[in-house]
Amino acid sequence: MNHDTRKDWDTYFMDIAYMVSTRSRCNRRHVGAVLVQGKKLLGTAYNGAPSGVPDCSEAGCMIAEEYELVTVDAEEKMIKKQRCVRTIHAEQNLLLFTDRIDREGSSVYVTDQPCWTCANMLANSGITEIVFHRPYLKDAEKVTAMMDQKGISFRRLDAYQPPQEAVGKVED
Ligand SMILES: [Zn+2]
Ligand SMILES: [Zn+2]
Repeated sequence: MNHDTRKDWDTYFMDIAYMVSTRSRCNRRHVGAVLVQGKKLLGTAYNGAPSGVPDCSEAGCMIAEEYELVTVDAEEKMIKKQRCVRTIHAEQNLLLFTDRIDREGSSVYVTDQPCWTCANMLANSGITEIVFHRPYLKDAEKVTAMMDQKGISFRRLDAYQPPQEAVGKVED
């Protein structure tokens, strides 16, 4: 496949993932994911509460606090972080809404680099490629190492520019 073609399809599917992410009702993070086989779109999903129960826009985010080990100036520090645990992550919803047979050998385009749990599930889902845009540094090292071990192509679209109307919310 030549580079120009590759880039066009990458942009096309990542644009769709970003448009899907605008469906999310979590006030902290909008994530979209799509399943692609060849050039065919087989599924879309975003982060959200299970259907039929109040979502973040109605019930507020369900905040969990956790400590994270970070390195600042070569010194390891524990930093308290907050995240919303009301939602099912986009990647997990994508797995719930697609069939195993469709996932075999397919690609996932996701707006954000998957967290460890999602990466773990994706690694066992039949897909062979993950393409993401926004980095998620917390789990990046162990996720990248696992994808290496699994032989799953794991790449970031560095030069990609999301559609202006789809980048409203990342975190606030
Ligand atoms: Zn939320
Ligand atoms: Zn996740």
